[in-house]
Amino acid sequence: MKLSGWGRYPHIQTEGRWFETPAQVQNYLKQPGDTIVHALGRSYGDSALNERVIFSRRFDKILAFHPTAGIVQCESGVSLSELIDIFLPQGWFLYITPGTKFITVGGAIASDVHGKNHHKAGCFSACVLSFDLMLPSGKVMVCSREVNPELFFATCGGMGLTGIILNATFKLQPIPSSYIRETIIRCRNLKEIFSLFEAYRQTTYSVAWIDCLAKGEDIGRSILFLGEHTDTARFDLATAKSLSLPVDLPGFFLNRYSVSLFNHFYYHAHPSFIEGRLVHLDTFFYPLDRIGYWNRMYGRGGFTQYQLVFPKEQSLEGLHAILQRIASAGLGSFLGVLKLFGPQNNNDLSFPMEGYTLAIDFKIQKKLFALLDDLDRIVLDHGGRLYLAKDVRMTREVFRKGYPGWARFEELRAKQGMKNKFNSLQSKRLGV
Ligand SMILES: Cc1cc2nc3c(=O)[nH]c(=O)nc-3n(C[C@H](O)[C@H](O)[C@H](O)COP(=O)(O)OP(=O)(O)OC[C@H]3O[C@@H](n4cnc5c(N)ncnc54)[C@H](O)[C@@H]3O)c2cc1C
Repeated sequence: MKLSGWGRYPHIQTEGRWFETPAQVQNYLKQPGDTIVHALGRSYGDSALNERVIFSRRFDKILAFHPTAGIVQCESGVSLSELIDIFLPQGWFLYITPGTKFITVGGAIASDVHGKNHHKAGCFSACVLSFDLMLPSGKVMVCSREVNPELFFATCGGMGLTGIILNATFKLQPIPSSYIRETIIRCRNLKEIFSLFEAYRQTTYSVAWIDCLAKGEDIGRSILFLGEHTDTARFDLATAKSLSLPVDLPGFFLNRYSVSLFNHFYYHAHPSFIEGRLVHLDTFFYPLDRIGYWNRMYGRGGFTQYQLVFPKEQSLEGLHAILQRIASAGLGSFLGVLKLFGPQNNNDLSFPMEGYTLAIDFKIQKKLFALLDDLDRIVLDHGGRLYLAKDVRMTREVFRKGYPGWARFEELRAKQGMKNKFNSLQSKRLGV
C-alpha cells in the first residue's frame, strides 16, 4: 500500500500490518527486518513511515477511569477525539492538547506534543503517569518516572524509536464547562506581539497567527488569541458541521500573491481588540479539524511544516531573521503560528525549550529546499532546533546540534537492540 504523513510528502510503498493484541505484535517482532508504528498519521513528514509499519488504531480500548482523580488508563490507539467524546460530558478535558484532536495517545506520547498552554503546563508527558512499552525482544516494560525512568524519558518524545507503547495512564483536568472565554488582540509587529505574550503570561492559553509574508516595519504582524476556561455549566460536545475538501486543489492555487492577499485580509478583518467572547473549546483548540482533508489544499505534491524554537534571549533576533528571509523568498503560506514555550523537560528528544516557537506551512516545490537550508542556518546560529513531528528533511548535523540529548538516546537504542528493530525513514536520515 502507499502511505504518507499528513504533509503527503513523501508517499512510499509499505507493508502495513494491523494488530489487536500484544501477543500478535510479539510474534511479528520475531520476524527479521525493522518497523515503526503508524497511528493516525498526523505527523507531517516521515517519522511514522518505513517499508514495514504497525498500525496501532485497533489498540483502542479504554481500560479504566478514576472518576474523582480524573485518571484514565487506555490503549495507545485511542484518539484524543474519542477521549473528548467520552469524558467532556462528564466535566473532564485533556491537560495538554495539540491543534488537532485526531491523534492517538501513542502519538501524543511519542512526539511529546505541546499545546497553547505549554508556558504553564508543559508537554503531554507532564500528565502521563506511566505506560507499558514493548521492546524489540517482545518483553513489556512498565515505564514511569520511578520505574525504568531511562525508558520513560527516552520514549516521551522518542518518535516510536524505543518500542511500542501499548497502553498509558494519564491525568485529565476538571473543567467548569466546555466553553472558553477568548480575547483577541491585533499586533503591529514582532516586538509588540512579544511584549503581549509576556504581559499575558498568566493566561492559560495563548497562540498567535502570524503573517509570514509581511515586510519592513510590518514584520511579525499578528493576531493574538488568548483563552480561559469559563463556567457556563454546560458540557456539550461540538455540534458545528465540518466541511471536507473533496479533491486536491491545483498546485498554482497557493502562490505568493494569493497568500499575501489572504494574509492582508485576514489581518485587517480582525478588529484591534475583542474581549472575552464565548467560544466552544472545539472552535478554540481545533479550528482546522473542521475542514476534512485540508491537507489537499497544497496540491498533489504535498507540503511540509517547518517548526522551530529559539531560546528566549535569541527569539526576537532569530525570528526577525527567519521572517525576513521567508518574506523575501515569497514562499510562505497563510498558516503561520507563534507560541510561547515554558521551561523544557528532562526527556531526551522533546522539542520545546523556554522561548518562542514558529510553525509555517510550505507547499513542496523545487526552490523550497534551498530556502529551508538557509532557515536551518539561522536556527542553529541562534541556538534553536526543529520539531521532529513536523520534519521531513532535517540533516543529521541540524538534528545533533539542536538536540544535545541525542547521544544518550542513541546509546540506549544501541544497548537495547532498538536500532535493529524500530526505525523510521526519519531515524535513518538522522542516523539516530
Ligand atoms: C492540524 C495539525 C495540528 C497539529 N498541532 C500540533 C500542536 O499544536 N502541537 C504538537 O505538538 N503537535 C501538533 N501536531 C502534530 C501531531 O500532534 C503529532 O505529529 C502527533 O504525534 C501525531 O499523532 P498520531 O497519532 O497521528 O501519530 P503518527 O503521526 O502516526 O506517529 C507519530 C509518531 O509517533 C509514533 N507513535 C505513534 N503511536 C505510537 C505507539 N503506540 N508506540 C510508539 N510510537 C508511536 C510514530 O512511530 C511516529 O514516530 C499537529 C498536527 C496536525 C495535522
